[in-house]
Amino acid sequence: MLPDSFQPQYRLLSQPLPDALTLSFAGDALLLGEGRLASLALLPPPETLLWIGDYQGRPVQVAGWRGLDALPAGIAAHALRGSYGLLDEAAWLMAGRASQLLTFHRTHAYCGVCGGATQPVPDEASRRCPACGHQVWPRVSPAMMVLIRRGRDLLLARSPHFRSGVYSALAGFVEPGESLEACAHRETMEEVGVRIANLRWFGSQSWAFPHSLMLAFEADYVSGDIVPEAGEIEDARWFSPERLPELPSPGSIAYRLIRAALER
Ligand SMILES: [Zn+2]
Repeated sequence: MLPDSFQPQYRLLSQPLPDALTLSFAGDALLLGEGRLASLALLPPPETLLWIGDYQGRPVQVAGWRGLDALPAGIAAHALRGSYGLLDEAAWLMAGRASQLLTFHRTHAYCGVCGGATQPVPDEASRRCPACGHQVWPRVSPAMMVLIRRGRDLLLARSPHFRSGVYSALAGFVEPGESLEACAHRETMEEVGVRIANLRWFGSQSWAFPHSLMLAFEADYVSGDIVPEAGEIEDARWFSPERLPELPSPGSIAYRLIRAALER
């Protein structure tokens, strides 16, 4: 998801753009100073510098370092996922694009076919191998999310890697060749062993950790007792609106999906 009026661009830069909004990353961590984006002037020359778009007439660039041994006073490294709420929403959304393009640039320096060095394709978020012509684009991995209702109750589950106490809607990656709808039915059966019907589209969200596109549905329960999938689902239960567990972070589509269901 990008802010309204954002114009995507993609170009490798040798010099910072004047008057640009700069998103700085050391490894995967976003650099922030006092609730705002870290100033490039305080940092060493970036190892990678990309123009990733324009926002409200201002160029947006991403500066990347594999890692920085020491950060200037007042600048701290934050996991992108945990930085929601630390900076304004438009900047956070653009940081998602920045992080994905930086990851693409870093992980596609060499051709997956012949091993030759790739080069950026001008004015396109793409790299091409001059030796064999193989071209690559940033990876976007579709992931399905489904919130299951039974009357007023919601089926929420927790995966072992969730923060303690947090429950969410079911989710899983779409298999090659699979439709979103088929994925919703399959993941629900695999993860909790229940049948669902009446899939209803809710919305989507770019989930830049590292390159997912979350596609969210609501569905009705049909049959089956909850059987959590070993290793994937630590616990899954029906929750009434009056006795909800802790929910995912407000910046996530999971949170919006659950809140919207409660308001209906
Ligand atoms: Zn090649």
